[in-house]
Amino acid sequence: MSTTGPQPPTVADVVAVLERRYPPTWAEQWDRVGLVVGDPATPVRRIACVVDCVPETVAEARAARADLIVAHHPLLLRGVSSVAATTYKGRIVHDLIRHDMALHVAHTNADVAEPGVSDALAARFGLTGLRPLHPAAPGSPAAGAGRGIGRIGRLPQPMTLAELTAHAATVLPPTAWGVRSAGDPDRVIRTLAVSGGAGDSFLAEATAAGVDAFLTADLRHHPASEHLAAGGPALLDAAHWATERPWLDDLAGYLRDTVGVETLVSDLDTDPWTVHATAPAPPVTRSPEK
Ligand SMILES: [Zn+2]
Repeated sequence: MSTTGPQPPTVADVVAVLERRYPPTWAEQWDRVGLVVGDPATPVRRIACVVDCVPETVAEARAARADLIVAHHPLLLRGVSSVAATTYKGRIVHDLIRHDMALHVAHTNADVAEPGVSDALAARFGLTGLRPLHPAAPGSPAAGAGRGIGRIGRLPQPMTLAELTAHAATVLPPTAWGVRSAGDPDRVIRTLAVSGGAGDSFLAEATAAGVDAFLTADLRHHPASEHLAAGGPALLDAAHWATERPWLDDLAGYLRDTVGVETLVSDLDTDPWTVHATAPAPPVTRSPEK
């Protein structure tokens, strides 16, 4: 008989709590969320919160003796026909099972939630008056006030694009990539749209929203160039991991408050970019179009 107090919650208990805040039906159709590895009956004493479930974060979670990893990105997004340990992802699945660690994924269902991934990102900039950049479609399972992908808000004080870029590099978790921006460096930014992760597909919505700048990740040459040429908001391109890492604090706080277990937030930078160099002399740039 146990003399160490109440029984710890099980994987099933924690999953139920996660699905209350991030219902799986809120995920995009192409997405794959929920419990990936794990026995629902396993007790959970410690939870590790990570952006990516990769060998490095699994090792970190194991060293911390976590029973459950909650990850943002799906480990298995597309169909697989093998999880043999000879494959990269199969090795991860083996490590998880061997060390009795469960894995749960909250991805686009956490993006769309309120508070969700981009609320944590917006908080880093002190944005106020938040509304979704891409509201959940009326009639969709996630439809509801405040829910949707990305957030739009007002900065505590106006700053130029150059100042905001430097500021972003200090308020976001440090990465080799840092932050790069597109547009007139002297443009004054009062309103900012943010979207954690790859935000290429929301450029038109940022323009339609009439914001001064849009911060996201994974922006590309042609879409960014054409967006600016069409008079769209200035763009800030941060490291993918850095735009989603802020959410882990919110996630961990929620889990501590609701299931009362220890949590660990991973600061392991899982962005693939590890080296960044700037040109020795300022590069020649096109004069921004007025
Ligand atoms: Zn992402």
